[in-house]
Amino acid sequence: MSEFADVGLIGLAVMGENLALNMESRGFRVAVFNRTTARVDDFIQGRAKGKRFIGTHDLKEFVGSLQKPRKIVMLVKAGAAVDQLIDQLLPLLERGDILIDGGNSLFTDTIRRTKRVEESGMLFVGSGVSGGEEGALHGPSLMPGGSAAAWPHIKPIFQAIAARTPDGEPCCDWMGENGAGHFVKMVHNGIEYGDIQLICETYDVMKRVLGMSNAEMRDVFAEWNSAELDSYLIEITRDILGFVDKNGEATVDKILDAAGQKGTGKWTVIESLDEGTPLTLIGEAVFARALSAAKEERVNASKQLKPVVSEFKGERKQLIDDLRQALYASKIISYAQGYQLMRAAAKTYQWNLNYGGIALVWRAGCIIRSAFLGDIKKAFQRDPQLVNLLLDPFFRDAVSTRQAGWRRAIVAAVQSGIPVPCMSAALSYFDGYRAERLPANLLQAQRDFFGAHTYERIDQPRGQFFHTDWTGHG
Ligand code: NAP
Repeated sequence: MSEFADVGLIGLAVMGENLALNMESRGFRVAVFNRTTARVDDFIQGRAKGKRFIGTHDLKEFVGSLQKPRKIVMLVKAGAAVDQLIDQLLPLLERGDILIDGGNSLFTDTIRRTKRVEESGMLFVGSGVSGGEEGALHGPSLMPGGSAAAWPHIKPIFQAIAARTPDGEPCCDWMGENGAGHFVKMVHNGIEYGDIQLICETYDVMKRVLGMSNAEMRDVFAEWNSAELDSYLIEITRDILGFVDKNGEATVDKILDAAGQKGTGKWTVIESLDEGTPLTLIGEAVFARALSAAKEERVNASKQLKPVVSEFKGERKQLIDDLRQALYASKIISYAQGYQLMRAAAKTYQWNLNYGGIALVWRAGCIIRSAFLGDIKKAFQRDPQLVNLLLDPFFRDAVSTRQAGWRRAIVAAVQSGIPVPCMSAALSYFDGYRAERLPANLLQAQRDFFGAHTYERIDQPRGQFFHTDWTGHG
């Protein structure tokens, strides 16, 4: 047996430690390094004891312990730390060695780093790693992209450590050139923001319109989890609502209603603005977190801005069912928008994204894992060039049959003064996307009026532009 390690890992924080243990458990010998070397010793003497690890105390020793071509996974703080590490590693590496950034890096940084590392003769991979601590240890969803020549070398390791779909397929595939992997991971995170906010809006309506107890809501989410909404986030919502502390109190009721965020949702929305493709649901999810974070301002406003609302007089059972329809239909819209963003970016950055393959990679191991992703995979199998998920027969029918309940749920929320920004943004997108005519004729008239921006006419071929002297006589 070779004394060299099959793979190296730098960064023994939460993600790195668990991913290293995962790799070792699949039969790979792993060399580890961490900037603060005491962490290496703690790991080797602790969780790694008796396992096939090589602990190293400087980068030269680390690089020297690896089988060629060297495969080095970096799991360090995203941002400047990755560039610093690349600076330190490049002089120690040889042509063909592979540097892999498994952190949450911005995809444009990964595009830049791929170019830089390739220019030095080495290969670079930016890989999305999703599933948090648990996923890293037992099987994450992996989204690698970068130097294509690296893929055959890292594929056996990556596919061995990845999560598996219920059909046994690894949740890891090559995403494409340079920043494609980190881009897909970014969109995953944006979709995660949307999925979470949709569940929160549903919870809010159940709690404040219907006055449901945590136990009642837990039972509803448990039931939903056994049908089309079957997903990790519905499952943990069920468990959170059922969780009581040692004093018998519900922990969820003790948590301050001020959300945090690390920025990947915001990145996704910024990219959608740059691409000019609507990502309204995820945008509203990011803003909902921002509004929640302004807790003191809201407390003050709540004393001054009184709602004029009407009491809900409908059927309780009906509203619960309507919420289920609204949640599912809105979720379809969110994924439709996310996939449209991926299509637009693929064109801009010249990636050949495999849309069905992306659904498969997200099917297990990551936070947005759900049965629903199996249906998305099937939609792209039916038509790999599908322009919008809403035009796939399965999803078109799924939205159509839920439309009435979706609208009723939003009306109930609006009349009760409960904010449902994501559900209503989803419905507005649906009504906009399916509209043959929008009021943009008036918009164009206004632009032409104040700025002579010109307009096209419905009675003339596209591409011909007209201007009216609005203050004269036409
Ligand atoms: P982290 O808190 O983001 O980063 C800590 C690690 O980075 C430590 O090993 C630290 O070394 C190292 N580090 C920081 N600056 C460095 C530098 N200039 N040079 C070398 N090493 C440096 O750790 P994490 O939570 O495990 O996350 C790692 C990456 O995975 C991040 O990009 C994160 O966004 C991403 N990620 C995290 C999760 C999650 O659930 N936590 C999920 C998916 C992806 P020292 O010990 O010496 O400080």
